[in-house]
Amino acid sequence: MKTKLNIPLSKPDISEAEIQKVNEVLRSPRLSLGPVTQEFEEIFAETMGSKYAVACNSGTSALHLAIRALGISDRDEVITSPFSFIASANCILFERGTPVFVDVEANSFNMDVSLIEAAITPKTKAILPVHVFGQCSNMTEIMALAKKYNLKVIEDACEAPLGTHRGQISGTIGDCGAFGFYPNKQMTTGEGGMLITNDDEIYRLTRSMRNQGRGDDMQWLSHTRLGYNYRINELTAALGVVQTRRLPEFISQRQRLANKYLEMLKDIDGIRLPETSEGNEHAWFVFGIRVREEIRDQLIEELNNTGVQSKAYFSPCIHLQEFYMESYGYKEGDYPVAESLSHEMVILPFYPQMTDEEVAYVYENLKTIMGKLN
Ligand SMILES: *Cc1c(COP(=O)(O)O)cnc(C)c1O
Repeated sequence: MKTKLNIPLSKPDISEAEIQKVNEVLRSPRLSLGPVTQEFEEIFAETMGSKYAVACNSGTSALHLAIRALGISDRDEVITSPFSFIASANCILFERGTPVFVDVEANSFNMDVSLIEAAITPKTKAILPVHVFGQCSNMTEIMALAKKYNLKVIEDACEAPLGTHRGQISGTIGDCGAFGFYPNKQMTTGEGGMLITNDDEIYRLTRSMRNQGRGDDMQWLSHTRLGYNYRINELTAALGVVQTRRLPEFISQRQRLANKYLEMLKDIDGIRLPETSEGNEHAWFVFGIRVREEIRDQLIEELNNTGVQSKAYFSPCIHLQEFYMESYGYKEGDYPVAESLSHEMVILPFYPQMTDEEVAYVYENLKTIMGKLN
């Protein structure tokens, strides 16, 4: 009998360099608001090609700071995607704004830009595209609409660090971009986030608001505006410095792994493989395949039984989460493409250190189970 492997969905890659850098912080007297946070911001801004970077304690905090800095508040409308992790819409609710969803494209899973214009009203303040699964939204069209209607653009780039659209890096195309470093992301700090921008005012406001609304001089008990404790600590920042240094290599490794999967899985009947839109370079957060919705949950269960971890993603869509339905009256059928994706999608194990043996194990089990279910 063949040995059973247990293959996780994701796995952080922490080397001796991260451990050493964290140890250095532990031996120092500065555990917060120190030089390593600044170093993290500098290397992150340089890697992305943005003027500024503001480190904070999660991707959700980065998004919230962006909403605040752009002055989005009571009943302001923000156009965004229902096929995303919930934080990209919740950040609008934090400030009592209204998320206005538009459906997504079946190929890229990102907002269908042909539907945006019809969703714009006099109350619309911003567009918040989510670069889902690692692939950039159609930022060319989004920026053109933003210019035409004088709207702000916040990129949720949490799943797409170093993904590009027509050579431009995700998060640097709109007014600002948010990143998150939870352990399943392409780079991790355990928990953590970053906001990047080229805009002096967004930088000034977000830096102040993540640190209790302190003024530009950052005097300890002088608070200029309402702020939060969204700070990152120096240990987290130490992880971030080394992970950012390694990020370009992580993304190349993920591209190679995606190519391997794409090549191997194409001979399995009944699955649809992910596509990369023209002009995009994918950053490969997860590898999502699609199957008939009637067999999807069974496939996941059987894969999990073989030790191949897999998951339905994003299921349900944001508008069908219980409190969105209750509070805003959304119902099934409102965004049919996003809903079909959420019924058909299965994400497979995906991390740079995956061995050929593990990839082959995923392939063989997937092929066998699909043969039965088809
Ligand atoms: C991961 C993620 C976030 C941020 O998550 P945190 O856990 O707060 O760091 C935001 N939006 C999307 C689309 C994400 O995938």
